Amino acid sequence: MRILVVEDEPTLQAQLATALTAASHAVDCAGNGVDGHYMGESGAYDAVVLDLGLPGLDGISVLRKWRGAGRNMPVLILTARDGWHEKVAGIDAGADDYLTKPFHMEELLARLRALIRRAGGHASAELACGPLVVDTRNGRATVDGQALSLTGHEYRVLAYLIHHRDEVISRADLVEHIYAQDFDRDSNTVEVFIARLRKKLPAGLIETVRGLGYRLTTPP
Ligand code: CA
Repeated sequence: MRILVVEDEPTLQAQLATALTAASHAVDCAGNGVDGHYMGESGAYDAVVLDLGLPGLDGISVLRKWRGAGRNMPVLILTARDGWHEKVAGIDAGADDYLTKPFHMEELLARLRALIRRAGGHASAELACGPLVVDTRNGRATVDGQALSLTGHEYRVLAYLIHHRDEVISRADLVEHIYAQDFDRDSNTVEVFIARLRKKLPAGLIETVRGLGYRLTTPP
């Protein structure tokens, strides 16, 4: 999943980027509201962590602009302690969840997992497709209970596909959601990841839909 972090405090921004990357996400960061707004409006993000106190353009205004433009990705806002009025304004502006600073990184990761799975219509942290189970809490995948050994990028592809089970996902979509902005993207590598995943998964689980993309689905 690809996550946007909009946070002006450099230490916290770096901690968020490190923790989210370790949790198998592709992460882009912005240090002010103007850049953050632009990135969230033009990029394909599965979730956003948005600080409210930002230079340039404040977080509430950033969020209002996104929602006004029809950007509906899940947004978790970070608020100052005792800032209950900020929470109310943030939720009214379209935030899906909030955390008060200081927070525990594990809680932020859990809340983001919940936002991402709810956006995909999933209630459980364990996503299944036939014999395949992906546990989004620890980034592990099993087939019939046997653990799969996956590289970071293979996991990102598989996690994106299983969050969008039964949907046709184009190669361009996969590229957008598995790489951070600065990464040297090459859509041919997506084919390589798919080919490697197919070797590790039961036949037919990743279907090629000619000219359109891939679909993770239970084979007939
Ligand atoms: Ca701030």
